[in-house]
Amino acid sequence: MANYKEEAIILRAHDLGEADRIVTMLTAGRGVRRAVAKGVKRTGSKFGARLEPFTHTHAVLHEGRNLDTVVQAETIRSHAAIREDFGKFLYGEAMLEMIEKSLHEGQKVSRVFDALRVTLEVLEGETSSPALLLAAFELKVCALIGYRPHLDKCLHCGRDLGSEERAWLDLAGGGMSCRSCRGGSENLIPLSQEALRLIRDLLAASMAAISRWEKDDRLTREALETCFRFSESFLERPLRSRRVVLRYLDGNLN
Ligand SMILES: [Zn+2]
Repeated sequence: MANYKEEAIILRAHDLGEADRIVTMLTAGRGVRRAVAKGVKRTGSKFGARLEPFTHTHAVLHEGRNLDTVVQAETIRSHAAIREDFGKFLYGEAMLEMIEKSLHEGQKVSRVFDALRVTLEVLEGETSSPALLLAAFELKVCALIGYRPHLDKCLHCGRDLGSEERAWLDLAGGGMSCRSCRGGSENLIPLSQEALRLIRDLLAASMAAISRWEKDDRLTREALETCFRFSESFLERPLRSRRVVLRYLDGNLN
């Protein structure tokens, strides 16, 4: 089997035996791939820290039957500032875990790669609310893989929700329900008009713009938890990092 070159972002790395590591990465052209990096834990390894989570790299991989092998890795951006800031690390880790668990191995979604690349660059810089970046990232990735939430009108009767005081996110329907139509549906999340407006804005705005927004902590939490529940409604596995993020956010709320 042949070698191939890919731009990639490292999602996760775990030990394999004494010296090797298994690296899970999102590649620009081939989706999520898993590869073994041999001898990476030995001092003087040619890989050094180049295969740490968050690293954006040019990699050469050798294609294997089950697992690829990392032949070479040149760092484009290490994103060390994310790994060194506890808060940014938690939000960033939730982004990486979402990618790993929402894409099937090999599913090619180059726009998801671009979304992750841009979001990590913004997260690494000055940002007033990494929690809003994470909420926006969740929504944008959902939209890119075919689960764009419908937020403007009631799914059932088509009523414009702009003037309603409250609306309900219908997880089974993938959109909003008005007060009169919500009866009978299960899995509804009540949303304030403010939170609904924020979620719409997060879906539409660029990450660079969102990084400068400052919103009330409780509103931010409402939006983030809603985004989590929306994406979890179609992911098969629960995401561990999200519970950690919410606990961290609650610690900052008082
Ligand atoms: Zn309705």
